[in-house]
Amino acid sequence: MANFKVDQDKCLRCGMCTGTAMDIFEFDDEGNIKVNNEQINDENIDEVNEAMNNCPVGAISEE
Ligand code: SF4
Repeated sequence: MANFKVDQDKCLRCGMCTGTAMDIFEFDDEGNIKVNNEQINDENIDEVNEAMNNCPVGAISEE
């Protein structure tokens, strides 16, 4: 399954991605978005892509 990453320099910490795919995009203890790539599967990949496409600053990319 695909691996996604967040460019922490671009990320606004807006939380939109966590709202779209909350199991995959999470705030860590430092307020950065972490990506739980190991939990991406056929059921949630559409939500992950939606979160990537809707990120207002294009901070999410596929590795
Ligand atoms: S949607 Fe984009 S800018 Fe907003 S928290 Fe997620 S990665 Fe950061």
